[in-house]
Amino acid sequence: MKSSPPALSGIPESSASSLEGRCCIECAHDLRGITTKTCPECGRPFNPDDPRTTGTIGTNRYRRWLIGTSVLLYYASWLALLSSFVYSAIGGNWILLFLLAIASVPFILLQFILLALPLQEIAWRRRLVGFLVPLVSLSICVTNWPVAVSLRMHRTAMAKIADRVANGEVISGPTRVGIFRFRQIRMSRGKDRVGFQLNGGAGGGMFVVRTPPGFVPEFSNWRTGFPLGSNHRNIWDNTNWTQNLGDGWFLVEQD
Ligand SMILES: [Zn+2]
Repeated sequence: MKSSPPALSGIPESSASSLEGRCCIECAHDLRGITTKTCPECGRPFNPDDPRTTGTIGTNRYRRWLIGTSVLLYYASWLALLSSFVYSAIGGNWILLFLLAIASVPFILLQFILLALPLQEIAWRRRLVGFLVPLVSLSICVTNWPVAVSLRMHRTAMAKIADRVANGEVISGPTRVGIFRFRQIRMSRGKDRVGFQLNGGAGGGMFVVRTPPGFVPEFSNWRTGFPLGSNHRNIWDNTNWTQNLGDGWFLVEQD
């Protein structure tokens, strides 16, 4: 809260009392007892004798509450974006990300409505950012793209480990590769695929699977070709879904 400037454009006491219950049109600052003709918070000029240049506190308190909600949602959407990006990039559970997407839809809709309403003067860039941040966050939760990007950056190191495992070496316990911490790295039931387990336990979880050269994935009967929620039946054991990462690498969830 800024301190009131000296009353250079001082107004008579009678006018000041007419500001009882009045507030700034621009920022809803309470003008009670103000002895200048500009808002001490945002600098907007007003005429204490002309009610059209000020607002009534009742309606503007509501507007101020909406603006506060919008600001809160704005920072919450940045938090959701950054945390979902990091969680996805290190190989977090996609189902949790998907649930986050579903849970955030009402808040995103509310934010879009508040941004579209003429509640306050917002620079178009900031308004654009307000629309984009939740959409990027949603794209992470729905498509899980950061993990595909970070796996691509770790592929060379992972290929060397996959070669060792394919040649019979047993790697026991968690293995750290860059930002990833794999719970186990193993072959699939003696076949020629190497799986790096990202999360989950002994019964299942997400694996990054390297298939042998010349491998041709086959879609399960129940889903064909759709990039989200697709399932290839011949990559790994008991898969719920598979995601093609390119160059013979797949992300799969074992049930
Ligand atoms: Zn103001």
